[in-house]
Amino acid sequence: MAVLVLDKRKRPLMPCSEKRARLLLDRGRAVVVRVHPFTIRLKDRVGGDTQPTRIKIDPGSRITGMALVREGADGTEHVLWLGEIAHRGHAIRDRLAQRRAFRRRRRSQLRHRAPRFDNRTRPAGWLAPSLQHRLGTTIAWVKRLRRWAPVTAVSQELVRFDTQKMENPGVSGVEYQQGTLQGFEVREYLLHRHQHQCAYCAGRSGDPVLEVEHVHPRRRGGSDRVGNLVIACRCCNQAKGNRTAGEWAEALGQRSMLDRTRKANAERIEAGKRPSLRDASAVNSTRWALFHALKATGLPVAAGTGGRTKWNRQRLGIPKGHALDAACVGTVESVVGWNCPVLAIKASGRGSYQRTRLDRYGFPRGHLMRAKQVRGFQTGDHVRAVVPTGRKVGTHTGRLAVRVSGSFNIQTPKGVVQGISHRHCVLTQRADGYGYTAKPKPMEERERAA
Ligand SMILES: [Zn+2]
Repeated sequence: MAVLVLDKRKRPLMPCSEKRARLLLDRGRAVVVRVHPFTIRLKDRVGGDTQPTRIKIDPGSRITGMALVREGADGTEHVLWLGEIAHRGHAIRDRLAQRRAFRRRRRSQLRHRAPRFDNRTRPAGWLAPSLQHRLGTTIAWVKRLRRWAPVTAVSQELVRFDTQKMENPGVSGVEYQQGTLQGFEVREYLLHRHQHQCAYCAGRSGDPVLEVEHVHPRRRGGSDRVGNLVIACRCCNQAKGNRTAGEWAEALGQRSMLDRTRKANAERIEAGKRPSLRDASAVNSTRWALFHALKATGLPVAAGTGGRTKWNRQRLGIPKGHALDAACVGTVESVVGWNCPVLAIKASGRGSYQRTRLDRYGFPRGHLMRAKQVRGFQTGDHVRAVVPTGRKVGTHTGRLAVRVSGSFNIQTPKGVVQGISHRHCVLTQRADGYGYTAKPKPMEERERAA
């Protein structure tokens, strides 16, 4: 993974290799600014040449993948940094639901209260708090990366399929099965629409090979429009042959279960009925809100489709993963240097304003500590603790949880280590609302799983 570099005036320079960063630090020409992501500042340099650098984003509901790439002159993208942000939307939703329940219970404890008259409206563009959080953290990371790297553009995966282009694809035959991006995207769209199942036999023929099939055959003038296409297994496709779905339905008997299913489905398809698309074309409000927020940063924003991301990934032989998907977003010639460690970033919040715990009826019980800091540390700090003797002997690195006693807990990659004295702890990075762990290189991870 590349090391992010700032100049003497804290302005971003081109990221450098780990080896070069180590050399600069050893010679005293640079100081460490941050550990996650690793950033150094040169002490003797002001300004320098930078190259076009792009942030690429694959927004997800639980995890958003991010990649920082350098754009070569020939269209090659050199991966500099990979990150995966784990959102805490579910935690936010659960907490708000619990708070709502407690309040309602307290309000209605003594006597019956009619529900309040609901005259409240939501402003245009309102997002639920859990979704607003997802948008906020993603934009926050774009802003952070801009502070540490000379970012000149952003790419975002905006929609699953480009349904407008899909209406008139202008692709034919073998292109659906492999071939071009447009053919690939149409095939992915159809597979999604039919839930990876043959439209005629619904998997009853037992043939696992799925193909794009023309309801009205092409040789007899059927069009290549998506409306004339379904997904069929090879067995059904060949059995149907050069007939329309209606002709095939008439020819089919009622003898076997397979024939009855095929007949019923072929009749339905002939009548123009297709499964409804659940979320493929549905406007994803959070993704669009992110798109507009990215535009507001002033950087040029390129949008890509999910179909194109997958096509790029398969064409370039890159394994699946949130950060690697992000690297494959948009128009990509080739990607190099993608096999580097991924920084897992977990949104953990910055603690709670609440200073009492509630019992199960929503009434205050006990109290939490008033001060956030204990012996100069606070929950969320990243520390390295070297314990010289005793049962906890060894070096522990990770995220800290403070206790008033000064005996802390450390969340290490291997698990929680309890009861580490503040005397052994050395701060590596201040709490900033995120927990960090370095995940192994994608290829190593895949080998380990195999
Ligand atoms: Zn079939």
